[in-house]
Amino acid sequence: MNMRTLFISDLHLDSSHPEIIQLFMQFLTQEATKSDALYILGDLFETFIGDDENTSLQQQVAKALSSLRQTGVPIYFMHGNRDFLIGKVFAEQSQINIIPDPTIIDLYGTKTLLLHGDTLCTQDIQYLAFRKKVRNRFLQKIFLATPIKTRRSIAQKARQVSEAHNRQMALPILDAAPEEIPKVMQQYNVQQLIHGHTHRPALHYFWRGSELFSHIVLSDWEKFGHFLECYENGVCRLKFF
Ligand code: MN
Repeated sequence: MNMRTLFISDLHLDSSHPEIIQLFMQFLTQEATKSDALYILGDLFETFIGDDENTSLQQQVAKALSSLRQTGVPIYFMHGNRDFLIGKVFAEQSQINIIPDPTIIDLYGTKTLLLHGDTLCTQDIQYLAFRKKVRNRFLQKIFLATPIKTRRSIAQKARQVSEAHNRQMALPILDAAPEEIPKVMQQYNVQQLIHGHTHRPALHYFWRGSELFSHIVLSDWEKFGHFLECYENGVCRLKFF
């Protein structure tokens, strides 16, 4: 037992950035093998329009993840806002367990809430309405039944709309709403919250009465590789490489 659990998110893997793919491969064969479990909290891929697209990147990632799994490290994956169409076939190929958003885990005795993080951005009403639509199982089935070419062009359009929307919005609206953090932790009755999505890595601590709460935000992988490591004694550290 290593008594260390790792968390990553927002790698946004894309064939146009081979250096990030390389960092991820390095992470999987080095750091990740020395851990009790690996949690991927969404946006592993920049785009994902279906298991059946089966790109060479999908194949490469699935192979690397299953190799890690074979060394005995369980891998848990939560959908992000970019790769929510990762399905059973890819999960099987990569030997990952898909976990719902939200998920509560017992992290060495600390009750911990895991989220991708987009649901915390409650001030972005337009985005949340969009999210509700694209997370509808029935609409997803219809989308997945269209030819891959059609899906690619729909996904591209959706990204253009999203980028234009994000340019228009003030930064605080795109960030986690500050009042949401204690609210959601109280709602799920947890002392610890870990999420990604906002690309604002930080360890926030706050007291409520005599209880200490921690709110941990993971980094994206735009410039560096990144992970959170949490030890059995409760210590968590953000690491870049
Ligand atoms: Mn995201």
